[in-house]
Amino acid sequence: TMPRVDEGSAKARQLAYVHDAATVSTSEQPRYAEGQQCANCALYQGGSAEWGGCPLFSGQQVKRTGWCNAYAPRG
Ligand code: SF4
Repeated sequence: TMPRVDEGSAKARQLAYVHDAATVSTSEQPRYAEGQQCANCALYQGGSAEWGGCPLFSGQQVKRTGWCNAYAPRG
């Protein structure tokens, strides 16, 4: 299985990715809105799994409860 994204990695920091969307501060991340998480992002490839791929983190898995500032609602 693919390794999990390290929140402290340069890429994660660049995208403000965290495993727990509930910890995102709207003052620091104005694009964030409550309820947004990888699980309902158009880019999440994990289906109903707890961890899944995301094209922005090639070769790694993000957590379904995660979030980053490239979040795009699933259409
Ligand atoms: Fe999660 Fe979507 Fe960001 Fe990928 S683009 S890390 S699925 S919020």
